[in-house]
Amino acid sequence: GLQVQGLSHAFGPRAVLEHIDLTLPAGRTLALVGPSGSGKSTLLHLCAGLLTVREGRIANGFACTAMLFQQPQLLPWKSVLDNIALGLKARGVARAARQAAARAMGRAMGLDELALAQFPPQLSGGMQSRAALARALVLQPDLLLLDEPFSALDIGMRQQMHRLLLAEQARRPLAVLMITHDVMEAVALADTVLVLAGAPARLRWRLDLPVPAGHRDDAW
Ligand code: ATP
Ligand code: MG
Repeated sequence: GLQVQGLSHAFGPRAVLEHIDLTLPAGRTLALVGPSGSGKSTLLHLCAGLLTVREGRIANGFACTAMLFQQPQLLPWKSVLDNIALGLKARGVARAARQAAARAMGRAMGLDELALAQFPPQLSGGMQSRAALARALVLQPDLLLLDEPFSALDIGMRQQMHRLLLAEQARRPLAVLMITHDVMEAVALADTVLVLAGAPARLRWRLDLPVPAGHRDDAW
């Protein structure tokens, strides 16, 4: 799992995070909520290794971590299929094998052959989000970090993304640490909601949802 202990972080003189403790076991989902500027992205970047931990400790026992940002961050000059296959190329997977894996994952995310052959700017926002999710999941990560990747989507498309994520989690243990401003998203996906607040921010509140995500009614 992922274990964060006594983590504090400052940018120059500005203390942003103070004494954060959290544990994320395999296959579970933690949602992080808090006001703008409270350090949510900073916490995710520290977990991803994009920022250096200076005080406290992060032990990431997961073998493969993938991250989704607020923008899909697809390369506009590569086809959607090649975008999805990008991480496999970096891993040294042969071209035919990585294209087959990327195609299968793209199709599982609801992208048809036409969409896979197109370039990202030709896709709708929702399809770009699917491609970004496919690019992350094709690596078979056991930890997924989500920095509000679905916030620009309409509610229907957001629910579709939730279903895709829950389906992947039903197939295999995939832990998710997600930032969201959307209460419904937290309820749909998370086992535990953590509230970050204050300056510098601490974890102020913890809410455990008793029913596992994926077994909750789509009632609202
Ligand atoms: P939002 O909900 O708006 O995305 P957030 O909770 O993700 O906010 P962060 O982006 O983590 O907040 O930023 C927390 C604080 O740290 C802010 O005051 C921000 O200005 C500051 N900060 C973030 N990154 C840097 C950086 N690279 N250099 C200096 N200050 C930074
Ligand atoms: Mg942020």
